[in-house]
Amino acid sequence: MEIAEQKNRVSLEGMVTLENVSRVYKMGDHNIQALKDINLSLETGKLIIVLGPSGSGKTTLLNVLGAIDKCDGIIKIGNLEITRLNKKQLTKYRRQKCGFIFQFFNLLPVFNALENVEYALELASKLSRKEVTNRATEYLRKVGLYEKRFHFPSQLSGGEQQRVAAARAMAKNPELLLCDEPTGELSVKEGKQVLTAIQNIVKERSDVMTVLVTHNQKIAQIGDVVIRLRSGEVDSIEEQIPIPAEQLSW
Ligand code: ADP
Ligand code: MG
Repeated sequence: MEIAEQKNRVSLEGMVTLENVSRVYKMGDHNIQALKDINLSLETGKLIIVLGPSGSGKTTLLNVLGAIDKCDGIIKIGNLEITRLNKKQLTKYRRQKCGFIFQFFNLLPVFNALENVEYALELASKLSRKEVTNRATEYLRKVGLYEKRFHFPSQLSGGEQQRVAAARAMAKNPELLLCDEPTGELSVKEGKQVLTAIQNIVKERSDVMTVLVTHNQKIAQIGDVVIRLRSGEVDSIEEQIPIPAEQLSW
């Protein structure tokens, strides 16, 4: 009972809301409306899937949530209205509150796995050098890469690189974990390991809201909530019982 109440309290405080969010790209003399009047209310502690075909606005939605892209309308992360922040505040928001996992890993090639995670932590926190190393090591262990922590990206498989990216995104304790087609470049086997790592992280952290973008209906089964996008609009929002990623095949 106590646990349920506690969870509920965290969810309410951590609610992410979007009000009339639109994004129009101006291309010469014509406009592309990537997002049209999106209204959403999302809870922390959940794995939220954004599902839609190519061009439906999934990446744009993720990027406006992470303040990588601008938009019209209002986005609130708890009490923080990110659509009102200035440039400096936005940088702080991105660094401290958002963890990103992109399709193409985006690791720094001259840093080993541990250094990649440490570097992101140094930017996001005021931890001491030793604390940074300890935390980075702990997260690499969580994603099953402790033994390979001194390997460079070129010495890791795609799936391993993506698990480093997951450790990097999570080590800084973000409020939002934003994943854009994280298995797009991976084999099914490697993809499942990455999704399992993400699912485990979500289970551990009821104060984080995870949004995972995919065009794959099968992968959508791992989410607690599925938001379907079509031509920049929300088509449907459904809650479901998530399936463990290791049981999937696609
Ligand atoms: P998805 O991730 O679902 O494939 P996107 O969010 O990338 O979709 O794109 C949605 C629409 O916005 C598409 O029509 C795309 O071509 C357009 N778009 C995305 N980014 C830009 C941009 N930077 N400039 C112009 N058009 C863009
Ligand atoms: Mg995309």
